[in-house]
Amino acid sequence: MAQRMTHLAEHDILASLPNRGLLDDRLEQGIALAQRFSRKLAVLFIDLDHFKDINDSIGHLIGDQLLRAVALRITPCVRSSDTVSRQGSDEFIVLLSEISHAEDAALIADKIRLAVLEPYTIASHLLHLTASIGISVYPEDGADPESLIQCADTAMHYAKENGRNRSHFFTDEMNCHTAERQLIRGDLRDALDRGEFALEYQPKVNLVSGAITGVEALIRWRHPSRGVLPPLEFIQIAEDCGLIVQIGQWVLRAACLQAQTWRAIGIRFGTMAVNISAVEFSNVRFFENVCEILEYTGLEPRYLELELTETAVMRNFDATRNVLQSLSAMGIRIAVDDFGTGYSNLSYLKRFPINTLKLDKSFVHDVPGNADIATIVRSVIHMGQSLHLQVVAEGVENVEQLKFLRAYNCAEGQGYYFSKPLHPSACQALISVAERHWVWQSSSPAVRADK
Ligand code: C2E
Ligand code: MG
Ligand code: MG
Repeated sequence: MAQRMTHLAEHDILASLPNRGLLDDRLEQGIALAQRFSRKLAVLFIDLDHFKDINDSIGHLIGDQLLRAVALRITPCVRSSDTVSRQGSDEFIVLLSEISHAEDAALIADKIRLAVLEPYTIASHLLHLTASIGISVYPEDGADPESLIQCADTAMHYAKENGRNRSHFFTDEMNCHTAERQLIRGDLRDALDRGEFALEYQPKVNLVSGAITGVEALIRWRHPSRGVLPPLEFIQIAEDCGLIVQIGQWVLRAACLQAQTWRAIGIRFGTMAVNISAVEFSNVRFFENVCEILEYTGLEPRYLELELTETAVMRNFDATRNVLQSLSAMGIRIAVDDFGTGYSNLSYLKRFPINTLKLDKSFVHDVPGNADIATIVRSVIHMGQSLHLQVVAEGVENVEQLKFLRAYNCAEGQGYYFSKPLHPSACQALISVAERHWVWQSSSPAVRADK
């Protein structure tokens, strides 16, 4: 009985792992030993990416089973002398008590990351998870449990900001970086009320006819003291603090209003594409919000395209499919953004109602020069055709890329070669001119012949 009581006091009930109290003890001991024998030790702070969304959408019972499954994946990645503890919610802290080099910790972090990545089947739900991991090392980053855990936590947040599903060592600069982010987060709260957001529009072009087939709305933040901030500097922060849901609603409404305004005055822009972040998409009210905004603005659903990344689409297979099917049934188009950078299992392309693949600009950047990338790009175009998906090449910057894409029958392109993202009035002017002439650089003979 006494043993059992001690176990309960020191362990997390759900995952049956040591809790924070026991971890602190082991860390104290580990530090004392490491000091005595001049050894290193490492702390890994593991946080599951977007776990809360999964929990909210499939329920806590399955969420709990998922956490247990994760614990079972993490434990075999370390030695029995190491400690895997659960920190509450979806956080785990691992103490690697004997490492020779800091790099060993990175290897183990990667092993854990890959173990977590394998799909889970729980109560007939197919689920995918990723983990962000921060690493701190004794003696470099601290000499007591508190500071080592704090540094690993900071590094974990850094990993999240840099795209999640990765690990990072703690560095001193991260503290400044964290302070900077806190400032931005503070300002972000007021930005909506103060009307500091604006949209720019970038056209998508039919690579054969040169016609504009659609525009993509891209958010900008006119910050009162920092100037105009691009989305990469604040979208992630907005996702982390949940503000993305309100910001996303603003974007969708503003883009639909613009589209409807253009339609009313006869500007034929094709479809209006809006980027939707994974956090927004998994919000339970997402579908309702889209419907309300369409109703409010009067825009017909077929003029709206939603761009989602592969990770957003893959996060919760069943819930995603329902939402996508409802959107698609209304006539809204669905595009997979940054295609090729995310998930590797492509079966979702057939199982979800997807219309468009936006081939990530990192691939387009390397054609035609890089033969391997060129092969990938050709294959994606071919696959898109076979699956009746529209392929849009992102980031087309020069005529060589354009020629390559046209030679392999890529349907559409988007990029600085055609136009940078533009203010609404400039975009409207471009659409009006493009309706009448081939406006892109004259050095594309096949296109000119076509016109
Ligand atoms: P994205 O959806 O893949 O958008 C394309 C990005 O590539 C845009 O960057 C665009 O300006 C840039 N781009 C376009 N043509 C070229 C080119 O030829 N070369 C290069 N190097 N870049 C090009 P931007 O506007 O900074 O947006 C970055 C990302 O932020 C977007 O990537 C999208 O994921 C996200 N984002 C933008 N607006 C929103 C929004 O309203 N809501 C959400 N959730 N995310 C947004
Ligand atoms: Mg996009
Ligand atoms: Mg993209």
